[in-house]
Formats: sequence, C-alpha cells, structure tokens
Amino acid sequence: MPSEKLIQTDVLVIGAGMAGFFAAMKAKEQGLDVTLTDKAFAGKAGSTHFSEGDIIYFRQDLGHNAKEWVEQISKNCEYLNNREWDEICLLEAEERYDDLVSWGVQFYEKDGKLYVFGTPKDTGVGAPGSAYQMIAQQNRKFAPTMRSRALEVGVRVLDRLMITELLEQDGRVVGAVGFNTNSGDLYVVKSKATILATGSSSLKAGAYPVYSYTGDGEIMAYKVGAAVASKEFMYGVTYYRAEVQRARESGKAEISKHALDESYRYPFAIGGDFSGWFNKPNINAEGEPVVFPAWEAHAGKAPLYLDFSSASGWLMKDYLKRIGTPQADKIGLDIRRGMQIKWPSSRIMTNAIWNGSGVWAEDKNCSVGVPGLYAAGNSCGTMASGAMYGGMGFASTHAMVTGARAAMGAAAYIAQNTDFSVSPQEVARAKAEVCRPFERKGGFSPEWVTQTLHGLTIPYYFLDIKHEKRLQAALTLVEFLREHIVPKIRAESPHEWRLAHETANMVTIAEMRFRSSLFRTESRGNHFREDYPKRDDPNWLAWVKVKKADEQMSLIKVPIPRAWWPDLSKPYEELYPRIMPME
Ligand SMILES: Cc1cc2nc3c(=O)[nH]c(=O)nc-3n(C[C@H](O)[C@H](O)[C@H](O)COP(=O)(O)OP(=O)(O)OC[C@H]3O[C@@H](n4cnc5c(N)ncnc54)[C@H](O)[C@@H]3O)c2cc1C
Repeated sequence: MPSEKLIQTDVLVIGAGMAGFFAAMKAKEQGLDVTLTDKAFAGKAGSTHFSEGDIIYFRQDLGHNAKEWVEQISKNCEYLNNREWDEICLLEAEERYDDLVSWGVQFYEKDGKLYVFGTPKDTGVGAPGSAYQMIAQQNRKFAPTMRSRALEVGVRVLDRLMITELLEQDGRVVGAVGFNTNSGDLYVVKSKATILATGSSSLKAGAYPVYSYTGDGEIMAYKVGAAVASKEFMYGVTYYRAEVQRARESGKAEISKHALDESYRYPFAIGGDFSGWFNKPNINAEGEPVVFPAWEAHAGKAPLYLDFSSASGWLMKDYLKRIGTPQADKIGLDIRRGMQIKWPSSRIMTNAIWNGSGVWAEDKNCSVGVPGLYAAGNSCGTMASGAMYGGMGFASTHAMVTGARAAMGAAAYIAQNTDFSVSPQEVARAKAEVCRPFERKGGFSPEWVTQTLHGLTIPYYFLDIKHEKRLQAALTLVEFLREHIVPKIRAESPHEWRLAHETANMVTIAEMRFRSSLFRTESRGNHFREDYPKRDDPNWLAWVKVKKADEQMSLIKVPIPRAWWPDLSKPYEELYPRIMPME
C-alpha cells in the first residue's frame, strides 16, 4: 500500500542532469542539507546522460577572447542571445571544468594530452569562422560519476521521485510534492529553497532521445507566477546559404537506388548543425540541395537523403568515435552499398527541445522572480542561446554554470530569510492536485491524450512550417484539451500517474508554443512563418515571455538591449548566413 513520506531539507533540487548535480553539490559545499530528486534513475537520465559530453574550452590564459567568441555566438543565435550570460558561461567554463575533474570525471585525451577540438575553421559551408574550442567528457560515464560523487558528499539522492507541484506560502516557494513512479509513495518535501533543473520541454516527438523532457519545471514555475521564455524556438536543423549555393552550382545530385532506408538508426539524424553537413539530410527527391527539411516535404519533394559521399574522413572518423562505435557497420552503414540514407517525410517532424528557453532568469543567480525558487540548465531561460543553438558544447557548459549559480542564489536566500513555514491547508491543496489523476474513477488515459496532442503538434505543418491559420486552428483544439480533457486524465498505476502529469504539462507547453509562434510575426532561427518568411529587424530583435495573468496566458515582448543589435547597415545575407525557405 503506497505510503506518505515527509522530508525536511534546506535545498530541494528537482532533476539530476548536469545542472541538477552542479546545483546539489555546490549547495552542499555551502554546508546545507540537500535533497536531489529525479523522476528516473539519477545519473542515467535526461539529455545529460545521452549527450556526447562536449563542453566549451575557453581559457583566457591561452589568449581566448570572450568578445570574439560572443560575437560568433551572436551570429549563430541570430542576435537574440543574452551576451552577459554568454560571457559568464565562457569565463566560468574553466572553474566548472576543474569541479568535474575534482569529482573524478574523465575527459578524452589525444597523445596523452587533453583532446581539444573545434568546429573545423573551414567547413566550407559558410559557418562563421571558429574561435570556438571544446573538450569532451567520456560520454555515458560522466553523469554516473557525478552521482557517485553526490552520494559521497552526502547529498540525499531520491530516484524515481517525480515532483509535480510546488508548495507556495504567502508568495514564497517552500517545498514541493511528488510521488515515486514505482511504489506510488507520496512525498511531501519541505525546503527553504527549491531549484528547478528538469531539463527542457519536448512533446515526446520520436526524433531524439529526450522523452523525459516534458517541461515539468517550466509548468510548475508558471503556475506560481514565473515567466517562461522563447517557446516559439526549437532545436532543429538549418542550412547555410554558402552550402546551398555551392550545391546548387554543382547541379542536381544522383539518387542511389541502394539508399539506406533506415534513418531511424541515426539518433543525431536531425540534430544540430554546427558540425556542418554530416547529420542532416542534404538532398531532396529531385536531387536539389535541402533548404529546410519540412519545407521540402511541404513542396512535395520528400523523401530526403543524407549523402555521406562528400564526407571528409576526419569528420566521419571523429563522429563515429564520439558516438561510441568506430565501426560504421554497427550503425548499419554499408559503404559498399552507396553512401546515402533515405528520409521519408514521415520522419520530418518537430523536435521541440531547446536550451535557450525556460523559466525566465530574473538575475544572475538564476532566481525566477518568486522568492525561494531558482532554475538551472535547460529549465533556465537565460537566453544564452537566442533563436538558435549557441554552439556545440554550449548547453552542458550553460547547465554547469547556471547549476552552480542557482546554488549560490539559494544559499544566499536561505541566509537572509527565517520564515520557511507552510500551512497544512497548502500541503493538503498540493497533495490533492498531485493525486487527482490517481484518484479518478473514470476519464481519459494519458496515452490517448498524448496521441491526440501529437496529432496537433508533430506534423510539420504546425510547428515547422508555421502559418497563422494553422497555428490558430491547432491552438483552439489545444485549449479544448487543456480545459476539458486534461482535468479528466486518469491513472491506473504509478507509471501512468507519471504519464498523466507529463501529458498535462505537454498540453500547456504546446499552448505556449502556439501562442508564442503566433505572437512572433517574423521568421528567425528555426521559427519559420510561411506568412512572414523573413527576419524583421529591428521590430523583432526581442524576446517573447509567457506569463499567467488572471488564469490566462499573456504574452510579453522584451526588446533586446540596443547595444546588442547587429549592424543593420550590413546586407541581410551577411547578417544571416543561414538560408530560410522562400529565400
Ligand atoms: C543526444 C544529445 C546530445 C547532446 N550533446 C551535447 C554535447 O555534446 N554538448 C553539450 O553541451 N550539449 C549536448 N546536448 C545538450 C545537453 O545534453 C543538455 O543541454 C544538458 O545536458 C541539459 O542538462 P540539464 O541538467 O539542464 O537537463 P537534463 O540532463 O535533461 O536533466 C533533467 C533531469 O530532470 C529530470 N526530471 C524532469 N522532470 C522531473 C520531475 N518532474 N521530477 C523529477 N525529475 C525530473 C529528468 O529525468 C532528467 O534526469 C546534447 C543533447 C542530446 C539530447
């Protein structure tokens, strides 16, 4: 019979990825009692455990120039990056690296020395030249190492504890309520400060290993009045003008009859684009260069193909080495059968994770503007990555830096406050909210609601190729899901109980995505509006925040500082090396 457990702690950290581990261990270093929870097994979950492990290698003593790097990041992020946070991430990268080494994390070496690499200076694809350097942790090993270290220093690590509701007393956050996704035990955690490190938000689209990402932290913070930023942007592939121009000049490509029809084997298939060409489809069904996968499908030119034949040996070897298998055949690539992988249009889908958005950070210690509540990592909306990813290795570095700073913020808040009490009524309210799906007799299964939500979000014509009419149509149905269906989701087991809350969160995240995408009437990064196909400077040199106002979702436009504007006298093509559909 599930039981109820009470935990009293100083700092509650929700989510044990890179950000959560840094927040927990940095708070512990302040002599505080720390509880770290994860809805899965801490150290083997979230995108941290799947990540390749690259982090930024910025060293001032090697003459690395922060201003130069931030300039490059700004161009990558199409100028919506928060330059102050970018500089903080660069300048604190070395200290956080030292932490990882002191915790026993191993890094790849070459010839007995730390293996330092960067996106090749000349990828020939027009990507801004690279001052950017990285190093790589031994993937699949560093997160378990951080877990062992956390246990060693006395952090209370609670696996399979999903937190779904914050305790709020007189406008302060004083803990949270959750449940064990195996036993069904209910947990009330009373804490003096709480750090949300629950990762980003995906809609469980099948394109990437990020199914745990359901925006739990963002929605918990939104419910207590914090703002959530930049939900119109997603992580997706884009293409450089130079690479498309070069391909157009070399004429249509030949499609091999032996193209490998097994795109699902490639987890990075439609991942980021900083390492240039090799992990995204580059030719369409007519042999023309791809400009934007969903646009090719929209134009009736799918399936798409990833042609490896132009891959240089170095990149290929490096790629295979870092994804943990030196043998191409292990990923089903038989180079004797041609070097093309086929992408049916059914696999061109919205990805929807992002590490530029999240709970809006109100200060440089990751406070979210609600006393007692902080955010870190992919949950923290610093806007360090603007409309596009700042650069490989950026996300983990941002997670480390914001995790450490959130811990400092929480420690300072605890030192300056004395009242962390919570009323029995508030505990009862939160428990009722958490248990609702598990106590319903009738209602809808979370699986069915997720399937219904996917029908409104995954087809490319909603959140990849956007248009006011389709966005509005989907929004109307998502509102119906939120108002009528979500309150009636029921769960028959602790597992379904998790799915029930994740589904409710995804419905609200989807609403935020549709409203933010309707609000931003331009195209930028991988937010593409068919009805506004160009970047609209300076009108949309601004961030979009979503905030609860009188139970409604309100949208707020936050112009970026004028000093961060690009030089608008320069040609559009020079400011934006990435090509948009219809260009
Ligand atoms: C395949 C892949 C490769 C990548 N490669 C790189 C790379 O090489 N370099 C780089 O910098 N970035 C990379 N990234 C991005 C990087 O991994 C992430 O940005 C970073 O790890 C985010 O860390 P985090 O701690 O914010 O979130 P996560 O690592 O996602 O951790 C969030 C944790 O919160 C838990 N959680 C969520 N909700 C709840 C809840 N309600 N209650 C309790 N626990 C909860 C989850 O289970 C999860 O463990 C990659 C990402 C992917 C998917």
